[in-house]
Order: sequence, then C-alpha cells, then structure tokens
Amino acid sequence: MLDGEHLHLTAEAVHSRAQNRLPEISLATVYNTLNELVAMGEVLEISGAGGAKRYDPNARIDHHHLVCTKCGDLRDVFPHGRSGLDLASSDRHGYEVTGVDIVFRGLCPDCQSPVSSPARHDDLALTEPADR
Ligand SMILES: [Zn+2]
Ligand SMILES: [Zn+2]
Repeated sequence: MLDGEHLHLTAEAVHSRAQNRLPEISLATVYNTLNELVAMGEVLEISGAGGAKRYDPNARIDHHHLVCTKCGDLRDVFPHGRSGLDLASSDRHGYEVTGVDIVFRGLCPDCQSPVSSPARHDDLALTEPADR
C-alpha cells in the first residue's frame, strides 16, 4: 500500500487503502505489518507534527522531512552539509549511532496565506521563514 507514489501515510490511511483489496483486514494487522517493515528497515516511521505516526517507503534513500505545523503536510527534503549533524564522540554517550532523522518544521505555502486563518499569530509563525 505504501508502494508506488511517494507518500507518507498514517496507519489508518494504509488501512483504508488496504481494505480496497482486502475488505476483512484489521487495523491491528496493518499496525503489526508496518511495525515488522520498520524493524526490517523497509519502511521508515516518522513522528510528524504532533499527529499520528506516518510511514515512509523511501527508506533506502537518505533523506529528511519538512513538516507543516498547521496542516501536517509532509515532504521529503535533502539538505546539504549533513556532516554538520554528526555527533562528536563526547556527545554520543557511548551509543553506536546508526541513523539520524531530522524534521524541519514550518508553514506550507497554503498555510501562510493570511486569508485562511485571520486569528493566526503572524509574529510567531514567521520566526523561521523558509530559506529556499
Ligand atoms: Zn500547511
Ligand atoms: Zn520521506
């Protein structure tokens, strides 16, 4: 269900897609399968912008995520200069570091529109403008 288009689906979304082919499939089965795929390294688990976990089939390509804190839109990003993210040995606390998962947060173009939510606090929302 995660294959094909590059999406970041919640377990519930995977479940509703799966039901198109397997009407009797349970949400628990979907959760178990997703957890197995995550454990196998086939799928990435992303804790998004305060919402439900998303599942990412793009596990083979090193990438990070850009999340809209308002609508939850989630995109793949490929930041440069990742070496700056390496932990110094003094900061590793004895861990063998196997991966890094960075989430950039902000407002997507749709959510930046002042028309969509007049009550929004612009001064807070605009502290970290997109640098691209
Ligand atoms: Zn948004
Ligand atoms: Zn992704």
